[in-house]
Amino acid sequence: MTIIGAPPTVRDESMDQAPHRLVGVLEKRLRGLEVDFHRAYWESQTSASPESERRRAELELELRRVKGDPRVLAAVKAALDEPLHDAVLRRQLEVLRLSLSANQMSEEQRARIVDLSSAIENEFASYRAVVDGRTLSDNDIDAILTSSDDSVERESAWRASKAIGALVAERVIELVRERNRVARALGWSDHYAMSLELQELTEAAVVELLDQLDCLTAAPFERWKALLDERLGSRFGVRELQPWHYDDPFFQSLPRDGRPSLDGLLSGTSAETLSVQTFARWGIDLTAVMSRSDLYPRPGKSQHAFCLDVDRTGADVRILANVAPGERWVEVMLHESGHAAYDVSIDPNVPYLLHRPAHTFVTEAIAIMTGRLAREPGWLRGVALAPTRDVDEIADGLERAAVDQSLVFARWGLVMVHFERALYADPEQDLDARWWELVERFQLVRAPGRRSGGEWAAKVHVSTTPVYYHNYLLGEVLASQLRATCERLFGGFVGVPEAGRFLAESLFKGGALMPWNQLVEAVTGRRLSVEDVAAPVAA
Ligand SMILES: [Zn+2]
Repeated sequence: MTIIGAPPTVRDESMDQAPHRLVGVLEKRLRGLEVDFHRAYWESQTSASPESERRRAELELELRRVKGDPRVLAAVKAALDEPLHDAVLRRQLEVLRLSLSANQMSEEQRARIVDLSSAIENEFASYRAVVDGRTLSDNDIDAILTSSDDSVERESAWRASKAIGALVAERVIELVRERNRVARALGWSDHYAMSLELQELTEAAVVELLDQLDCLTAAPFERWKALLDERLGSRFGVRELQPWHYDDPFFQSLPRDGRPSLDGLLSGTSAETLSVQTFARWGIDLTAVMSRSDLYPRPGKSQHAFCLDVDRTGADVRILANVAPGERWVEVMLHESGHAAYDVSIDPNVPYLLHRPAHTFVTEAIAIMTGRLAREPGWLRGVALAPTRDVDEIADGLERAAVDQSLVFARWGLVMVHFERALYADPEQDLDARWWELVERFQLVRAPGRRSGGEWAAKVHVSTTPVYYHNYLLGEVLASQLRATCERLFGGFVGVPEAGRFLAESLFKGGALMPWNQLVEAVTGRRLSVEDVAAPVAA
């Protein structure tokens, strides 16, 4: 990786100015770099080339270096020590302190972390599973695991999909050690604890919520899985099921044979139109977002999906997707549109540094809540305009499937979050043993007799998106809490204009003006809790 230019610094005279001057200077500097980075990122994802990838990486490093300047952090901390009466100014300084703190490290450490991460990312990008000399894409693996009745073929595909783990595991452990060195030098027990705290979460609160989720889901999951295993056992003619007998490599989503398919019902209208119509009912116009987006597959483009507020003004929000017919992409588009609806609804007067969702997990909660609509009878009838009789026929199955999906994902999420915490607490332990112990405990899936090792590192998030997965679990919990709030206040959610106005006004509009915990309490009337997850899971 090329490092461009000399380390940038904020001119010393700006440090002595009043806090609002400091915020103004930093906002200008970070805004310029971040917007350039977002543009380069979009470019690298929509038309991948060595040039666009280099530009993205250079801007990312540059941004990290600016945020890593210890003198800037010292100035922000000094400003926070002053008696500030302006709450918005204080919040901007607080958000700056968190973001700068996460980047404090030596130039060598920064370069080493960026090099290791890039190498791992490149390994994932170029890796293709090979079975019997045949190269398989992720979609090929998925197709085998969802449809093949041949255990031998399934095992080969599953093992091939895990082989990337063994390739990167050593480098991931090295990265964990390096991140821990940085965190310990700054006074934290490890990188995991540091990252959570800089995301305005505490390890104790996250663990408490995970334990509650575990208690709630353990028994219903065990019952559900016993029935699934019975069906799978007779399908494959085996007494003891192996990890490759489930529908996806990590058993993180509901197997297809346990739920009704919506592919037929959703074939009439495009995922793009369905998303626009869904949000229009809530008074949120996404037509401009769709026109700037890149929604359909083509060569040289990322296979994934994401939403990006390019200049953090809400005026240039874009979605990248690879929409194909069928339920999967309808669900993905409703999810990404949830992120987009949040971004376009933030008040333009909110200052740049706070012009973003209140927390990653809060925008995930919105996206999870709207993504779930694809399986909801009321949405299928009222927005997708599927024939009432067809929807009625599968309504019970859909409702059960929605509950089961949350169960399956919760058990998988518990594995991920507990594993990642253990990984940073002690990267020298037997990580393979630890991984399979958690998989057995939470997902009730037994480790295979022969193991090649490093299966944990095959999950891309462990390797390339550190200390992030808890956001999905917290998002699931908040999605249920927000949905229950809308039902309580307006007697409904799908197509209810008041529910849309309520979310836009009370949650989206303020961006990150309020810390997430205050916002959740203000919007839902209570602290984040698993209370509303309980109802459907226990049913
Ligand atoms: Zn999302």
